[in-house]
Amino acid sequence: MNTNAVIAIHGGAGTILRASMSASAEAEYHAALHAVLSAGQRVLADGGSALDAVSEAVRLLEDCPLFNAGRGAVYTAAGTHELDAAIMDGSTLDAGAICCVKRVRNPVLAARRVLERSDHVLFTGEGAEAFASAQGLEIVEPAYFHTEARHRQWLLARGQQRAMLDHDGATLAASSSATDNDSNTANAGPNRNEPTPHEPTPHEPIDPNRKFGTVGAIALDQHGHVAAATSTGGVTNKQVGRVGDTPLIGAGCYADDATCAVSTTGSGEMFMRMVAAYDVAAQMAYRNVSVQEAAHDVVMNRLPKIDGRGGLIAVDARGNIALPFNTEGMYRGFARVGETPVTAIYR
Ligand code: ASP
Repeated sequence: MNTNAVIAIHGGAGTILRASMSASAEAEYHAALHAVLSAGQRVLADGGSALDAVSEAVRLLEDCPLFNAGRGAVYTAAGTHELDAAIMDGSTLDAGAICCVKRVRNPVLAARRVLERSDHVLFTGEGAEAFASAQGLEIVEPAYFHTEARHRQWLLARGQQRAMLDHDGATLAASSSATDNDSNTANAGPNRNEPTPHEPTPHEPIDPNRKFGTVGAIALDQHGHVAAATSTGGVTNKQVGRVGDTPLIGAGCYADDATCAVSTTGSGEMFMRMVAAYDVAAQMAYRNVSVQEAAHDVVMNRLPKIDGRGGLIAVDARGNIALPFNTEGMYRGFARVGETPVTAIYR
């Protein structure tokens, strides 16, 4: 029996500045992270598997509109949502993933079904939706994923004609002459509202009250096994069909009992090119370094060489955790069985 059972989660990394965050918004994030950690912690305390703990944590994060996964996901350049998710079991190296789905309520549950009930690892688009539906998972109308805050953010990014990381509102708003004019109807769509002129302050986020993020969870269970799961709406204003690191095993998600479990968040293209999640495990295996040292090297040394921005969470089979990020902030937290969950946002 492993007494170091632990779960850690992230809700995305990026330009998350204390100065731009109201006390109530901050409290909302801490409360959401705390609730998710408590749920994951209960699974582990009851003797559940790391795979069950990360599935449940990411499912809850997908259902929470504060984060860029499931409901509250970012918009593509076409004003639609395309969701990606992956999950991996460190005890067997089994993995499942889906990408570019538009109607699966909980992409992480679909990824889990791929892991457990399919001979394949990654399904895309319509095939992924058909698989999820055949598995009895909940299928929703695309409008389910709409939130006003994400739609406003997309209007700003579209005005800049660029794709952007979820939390990088400050950069965009500082260089933008556009602001939100998103009146308050429930229909999302590319042509519904146009941005109007405005004078942003240098550190003003896209939406001062709401920031969102890709989500992920890693866990070590009482049986000594690790698992990881990651889920995202991708980057705001991404091209239709674009797939990032999140659903790619080894880039956005990886787990191996022999080394560690990893979930990443950040500029996906760079995490793919660095095979970031696997690199943490590989450094532990081949360089014989700790999970903290390997995670730090990937996030602070290797990713910055190609302008890779973001962070990751990692846990080894002894319960050591690392939560490094090279941005201003990363929504994050961890909870050991029997202890109070710890949550944090800024550096
Ligand atoms: N890594 C995600 C992607 O590129 C985005 C994020 O983590 O915020 O799709």
